[in-house]
Amino acid sequence: MSIFEYAPAPESRSIVDIRPSYGLFVDGEFADGTGTPFKTVNPATEEVLSEVATGSDADVDRAVRAARRAFTRVWGPMRPADRGKYLFRIARLLQERAREFAVLETLDNGKPIRESRDVDVPLAAAHFFYHAGWADKLEHAGLGPAPRPLGVAGQVIPWNFPLLMLAWKVAPALATGNTVVLKPAETTPLTALLFAEICQQADLPPGVVNIVTGAGETGRAVISHPDVDKVAFTGSTEVGRAIARAVAGTEKRLTLELGGKAANIVFDDAPIDEAVEGIVRGIFFNQGHVCCAGSRLLVQESVHDDVVASLQRRIGTLRVGDPMDKNTDLGAINSAEQLARIRDLTAYGETEGATCWQPEGDLPDRGFWFKPTVFTDVSPAHRIARDEVFGPVLSVMTFRTPDEAVAKANNSTYGLSAGVWSEKGSRILKITDQLRAGVVWANTFNELDPTSPFGGYKQSGYGREGGRQGLSAYLRSDF
Ligand code: NDP
Repeated sequence: MSIFEYAPAPESRSIVDIRPSYGLFVDGEFADGTGTPFKTVNPATEEVLSEVATGSDADVDRAVRAARRAFTRVWGPMRPADRGKYLFRIARLLQERAREFAVLETLDNGKPIRESRDVDVPLAAAHFFYHAGWADKLEHAGLGPAPRPLGVAGQVIPWNFPLLMLAWKVAPALATGNTVVLKPAETTPLTALLFAEICQQADLPPGVVNIVTGAGETGRAVISHPDVDKVAFTGSTEVGRAIARAVAGTEKRLTLELGGKAANIVFDDAPIDEAVEGIVRGIFFNQGHVCCAGSRLLVQESVHDDVVASLQRRIGTLRVGDPMDKNTDLGAINSAEQLARIRDLTAYGETEGATCWQPEGDLPDRGFWFKPTVFTDVSPAHRIARDEVFGPVLSVMTFRTPDEAVAKANNSTYGLSAGVWSEKGSRILKITDQLRAGVVWANTFNELDPTSPFGGYKQSGYGREGGRQGLSAYLRSDF
């Protein structure tokens, strides 16, 4: 029982008008797909939200041909400053319709409205604003005197940040003069389809953005289409590997943003209360469905008990439940499949000998839910210390010296992100320098910004998204 009880503060869903069915968005228009349609559900209630078209190989081919035509005739030859104007227009429309996007994202994904409203949608708009600014300055990006677009980009995105991942993919592709065929995840297609309406509203020339919904097969058709010049993928390492194999031996350029198992390192001189907030943000933000989540907590042995006790106290105050309630901290798990995966991996944690802790309290009867979970007595060999759970599950380990912290942090097949908590700037600089992770946060966690490049080492993938570095994935400098 927490000291404060909150009255429910539900956001109204009346602002969104969800259609009973959606088609594909190809060549500027919505059209039926020729595959078997699928249903998208609200993971918090299991209510069917809509029926969505599946793009077949033939539909993907139509989309790629539309993207090629738009690239050759309109978008490629367009003055860069004019391309920039379209991106600014899209960014402003995203802001104008922000509430609608936030509500729809929460309904389709299960994430708390507070996060979709304050993080996903504003950051998606920020990505368009940022890249709009680059559109007419590409020759000053340090990528050669006259960098040129690649052509048609085939992009496949996951379900954890549906609109934000779309923005990460579409904004740089368009700013650099490429056209796009994008496949959203099967469980979260709705904000991508609302984005298609934004493209219409912005008068974006037909074919510049095409959205082809469907399952993994549709994604496979997008990335393996022979007329796609560039493939960008965010998702699991397993599918990333399959994509790398499919693209090998072709002239396609490839960037992969895959999984992670980030170490969040807390030294004994760190301000414990702030670190605890950072640990919570690191692993429970977005139900832990975050590739850069701080899922491995490395605590200096001398403060382990204090940190774990404060952490458990803090977790006891987190509100798990209705994602549409503005007070909710943890929403629903995105799908029954993902819930099963989280349950499987946490069961390993217990059989391998780690100690599982969860706060008291009930979960809703319907929908897909998992309590925030902390494992202590974890050894680096345990599966919960090695595998990406992609859920609200934290594994706590200890270290004694800075060298041990670095060795344990780097003892992972992944290398996407990491965090360091310490009062000493010199220690932070020394440690961050030794961490094999694409992004390292100091005294904060899960801070994302369009100006900052994001990407991994090892099995976390290759290439960078965001910042000046992210532009290079969509440009060629050979002429
Ligand atoms: P996937 O990698 O399967 O999904 C990512 C995207 O790829 C989806 O759009 C998916 O379609 C599509 N896809 C699936 N198979 C293929 C294929 N052969 N060729 C092209 N595209 C394909 O992730 P899952 O949803 O299955 O999640 C599994 C695990 O992956 C999670 O538990 C988590 O550990 C990790 N993951 C990591 C993410 C990250 O950001 N790093 C994001 C999502 C998951 P569809 O939606 O229809 O499956």
